[in-house]
Amino acid sequence: MSRLEEFEKEKKITRRRFLSMLTGAGLVSGVATLSGCSPVEQVAGTGWLPQQYQVPGSWPVQVKGRVAIDPASPSLSRDDEKCILCGQCLEVCQNVQSVFGYFELPVKDDFICVNCGQCSLWCPTGAISEKDDIQKVKDALDDPEKVVIVQTAPGTRVALGEEFGLPKGAWVQGQQVAALRKLGFDKVFDTVFTADLTIMEEGTELIQRISGKSDAPLPQFTSCCPGWIKFCEYYYPELLPNLSSAKSPQQMMGAIIKTYLPKVTNIKPENIFSVSIMPCTAKKFECSRSEFNAAGKYWGNEAIRDVDVVLTTRELARMIKAHNIDLPTLPEEEYDEVLGEGSGAGLIFGNTGGVMEAAVRSAYYLLTGEKAPEVAFKLEPIRGLEGVKEGSLNIPGVGTIKVAVVHGLSNARQLAEAVKRGEAPYHFIEVMACPGGCISGGGQPRTSVPPADHVREERIKAIYNKDASYVLRESHENKEVLALYENFLKHPLSDLAHELLHTSYTSRSDKLIAKKLV
Ligand code: SF4
Repeated sequence: MSRLEEFEKEKKITRRRFLSMLTGAGLVSGVATLSGCSPVEQVAGTGWLPQQYQVPGSWPVQVKGRVAIDPASPSLSRDDEKCILCGQCLEVCQNVQSVFGYFELPVKDDFICVNCGQCSLWCPTGAISEKDDIQKVKDALDDPEKVVIVQTAPGTRVALGEEFGLPKGAWVQGQQVAALRKLGFDKVFDTVFTADLTIMEEGTELIQRISGKSDAPLPQFTSCCPGWIKFCEYYYPELLPNLSSAKSPQQMMGAIIKTYLPKVTNIKPENIFSVSIMPCTAKKFECSRSEFNAAGKYWGNEAIRDVDVVLTTRELARMIKAHNIDLPTLPEEEYDEVLGEGSGAGLIFGNTGGVMEAAVRSAYYLLTGEKAPEVAFKLEPIRGLEGVKEGSLNIPGVGTIKVAVVHGLSNARQLAEAVKRGEAPYHFIEVMACPGGCISGGGQPRTSVPPADHVREERIKAIYNKDASYVLRESHENKEVLALYENFLKHPLSDLAHELLHTSYTSRSDKLIAKKLV
């Protein structure tokens, strides 16, 4: 039985116990079905939160039996009328993500949250959801001065269809592009493009660390998951030098849309409104980080943000439905040129193990000048839903590169502790906060409570199948990425690449008191 299965079994028992307590208090009655979900229990009436479940002096922020959500959170919100105090948010936060309960706060009413949004997937009533940013996008689309440009992450194209009755993992890349054009977006770009760019930057950085040309320590951790980054900033500030300095593909795309694109078109950077469609609630937090205004610094206009708004897959589905667009029947359309080409390597970023597999394909080429062997195009040891995976590849003239892949933050915690103890003999470690990777991110369509592995597997399979069908399967062969280097950035890790595509991290451990409950 996998760790997740064990946990889900225990969770069902806890939920039953909790609900029987609520039923006894006259708070819960009957059984309802949340569209497409397992049966869930329904709240009877409103204004029902009794005194014994409140933490004195802190209502409505702190309530026993559930996680606290910051009203100012850019990622998440909770509708108290829908909350049945079932404790699912607490369980996923504590036992799957090892966030809740792994700290004490020096200040009452402060909030510790890595913004991953897994609580919103586990919430049986839909009380916890993403912070709704649809109106901001509508306002931009209605503004004749704005050029509204959108990017779509790898993971949304294998989940959006589920909101329209298609099977789990249905591939709707072309229909998603068509729907975005119907909604009025001026250009539709592919975050897979900047996933390829990430490999060029992060892969080159790894090579520098391995060859001793950089002082930065090994192992190198991936840095494309903002949930993992914030987790590390809270709990493992001593490992921040191990994180790759490469920004996430979303933020790279934001910076490139507002710097390179104006250079090769006549669009003014200050007129661009940049929207991301992500499977992820943490990306909403990420785009709000003060340091992500590289385009503003480039143009000398601090008001320019790299990404203006992030919408989750669920928000996009609501927009499409509100416009009565029937997604499944739309003819497929292609991404726009210049920032629209993506390789199979960039595409598999959506799956746990995907970033690592993509990196291995290109690192082999960058180190040897030769195409990676066939095994690098289906790296079985690091595919699948095992919580901690490891693999190795012999690279001629370099030696054996050892890698590890973890998903779910309690697994990341185990590996981070092993790195601290000097017991993790890896060169490169991929971490994704969400179990299964971004295909099961906190902004994806809700399925069952808790999210089921078979849904994750369908989405993962759809992405790997598409990668296997591509001719272009290596990031370093993406022609639009090569043109970006030739015409603008010059080469990976150039000064301009550092300015636009790299970042640094901040310890947040001072927010926690020294005693960590690990
Ligand atoms: Fe977001 Fe993906 Fe990280 Fe989940 S794994 S927090 S969806 S980047």
